[in-house]
Amino acid sequence: MNAKNDRAAWLKGPAAHCSPLPETQTRPRHFVLLGAPGVGKGTQAELLSARLGACQLSTGDIFRAAKSIAACERSPALNLALDAMRKGELVSDETVLAMVTERIVCLRCGGGFLLDGFPRTVAQAEALTRLLAREQIQLDAVLSYELPLETIVARLSGRRTCEKCKAVYHVQSRPAKVEGVCDGCGGNLIQREDDRPESVKVRMAAYESSTAPLADYYRKLNLLVSVSAEGSPEAVYQRTVQMLEAKGGCG
Ligand code: AMP
Repeated sequence: MNAKNDRAAWLKGPAAHCSPLPETQTRPRHFVLLGAPGVGKGTQAELLSARLGACQLSTGDIFRAAKSIAACERSPALNLALDAMRKGELVSDETVLAMVTERIVCLRCGGGFLLDGFPRTVAQAEALTRLLAREQIQLDAVLSYELPLETIVARLSGRRTCEKCKAVYHVQSRPAKVEGVCDGCGGNLIQREDDRPESVKVRMAAYESSTAPLADYYRKLNLLVSVSAEGSPEAVYQRTVQMLEAKGGCG
């Protein structure tokens, strides 16, 4: 695994170090990935990250990693964030933005980035726009993955995540070679707490009310690229690459 595909890089915050762009890329790419939980945007981010050499930055990964910090060492804001996450609710914009700002070095990275799970609300998107303007970074596109609700529920219940490297599998559509063991690093594959049915319902409601309006925000900025998330991860990836090539953004 090279540094670019190390999903843990974002977790290291200012200590993260990345390798230079792959030779196939002439400039760093900057994408936001949108989509309801379970559409497979994390998997697409992984595939795109391998192609573009850009880091996959997931705010969800940061919060999940924070769970391993001893309770007595967590700030009150972090405890509230973890509580919200456990219930499937969104973490407050203030906390999320503080986490992202702490990791500004990852946004500045010369390898580019794929933001997965951030922004989640219009307020976060506005803050990101201001942050990127200050850093003189331009988004290439905002990829919005779309899928019917029944398909989403089936996908979430079968999803498994590597405890160690955060790679994502699915018991049916993307099984690990050995059940329960990550192909890449040998870590344990687990079902995320927030992929359980009671949390999924809350997450879908949070998505509808807070995240769906983001598509309009980015449509107005002429950055939105809608991609159907039907089919295998590879089919969705090929569709994404074609749409980006048509937009001139996948080099
Ligand atoms: P994800 O892995 O992106 O589905 O995120 C898992 C959980 O982390 C979400 O259900 C939220 O509780 C929390 N979370 C992650 N990113 C954000 C964000 N940008 N804004 C608010 N909450 C977030």
